[in-house]
Amino acid sequence: MRPIPLFSALGLCTLLLAACSDRSAAPGAAAVPAPAPASVAPPAPPPVLATAAQCRALVQRLPNLGAAQCSAAQLQDSGARSVNGLPLFTRDVRPEAPRLRVLVIGAIHGDELSSASVALHWIALAADPLVQTPQPIHWRFIPVLNPDGLLRQPPQRMNAHGVDLNRNFPTPNWERDAAIYWNQRVRKDPRRWPGPKPLSEPETRFVHEQMHDFKPDLIVSIHAPYGVLDFDGPSVPPSKLGRLYLDQVGIFPGSLGNYGGVHKGVPVVTVELPNSMRTPLDSETRQMWIDLLRWMSERLGAGGR
Ligand SMILES: [Zn+2]
Repeated sequence: MRPIPLFSALGLCTLLLAACSDRSAAPGAAAVPAPAPASVAPPAPPPVLATAAQCRALVQRLPNLGAAQCSAAQLQDSGARSVNGLPLFTRDVRPEAPRLRVLVIGAIHGDELSSASVALHWIALAADPLVQTPQPIHWRFIPVLNPDGLLRQPPQRMNAHGVDLNRNFPTPNWERDAAIYWNQRVRKDPRRWPGPKPLSEPETRFVHEQMHDFKPDLIVSIHAPYGVLDFDGPSVPPSKLGRLYLDQVGIFPGSLGNYGGVHKGVPVVTVELPNSMRTPLDSETRQMWIDLLRWMSERLGAGGR
């Protein structure tokens, strides 16, 4: 019997689809070696992007954000969920052969609306090929870490469990120090409750996972409304970003700056925008971005760390 040529066998497989297997093939086809499954990489599942309704919710809540800009940000469902089950969106901007990995986080505090909007504006700048970057950087944005707090009416600082996420990171002696901080320094202010234990919240666990998996060389955490720049960790801090000047205000038990910068050795730039409800002018948002890039190229480039 004449063997069936390879293309015929493949054509038959294509036609029969699921019915095609070694057992169902014609006897003559047994001489044709089946393609090794290992040689065929499974296609990556397509990313699940934010829906129009999810973007609409952000556009309605955030200052200075249009529907087109939210859609262009191409926010992806990370698979992680907030306490109330909302997706924690990310966006990666990754050039070839990146030299640095930078994690940018907005709205860890849900009532600091401008911080999420600025993160979304920075996604546009990171993805803009006309904006020169001194070195190739893999950016990962989490523009809204606390969607439950942000989308609540009215927005609230804490997550849906009433936890201040920026006090929930596992700094050493958290059990002792977070309790002293909450009971004595802020007199049980409900807006600053650090939670029942470190990493008790899905939102802080998500950041913790990102630090472990993505291994950022730098974390930029955007807040409001104190109008300053703070810095924790190794390296020389930026003296200014746009009109924000460095003013290191101290550290708190369980804060991201304390955990990332002081204890994990990952520099954390904390941007405190001057207003929670309004973003800076677009020109100022852009200048902050340019100043951040310039500082990174001077301090975090080759030989930086
Ligand atoms: Zn804040």
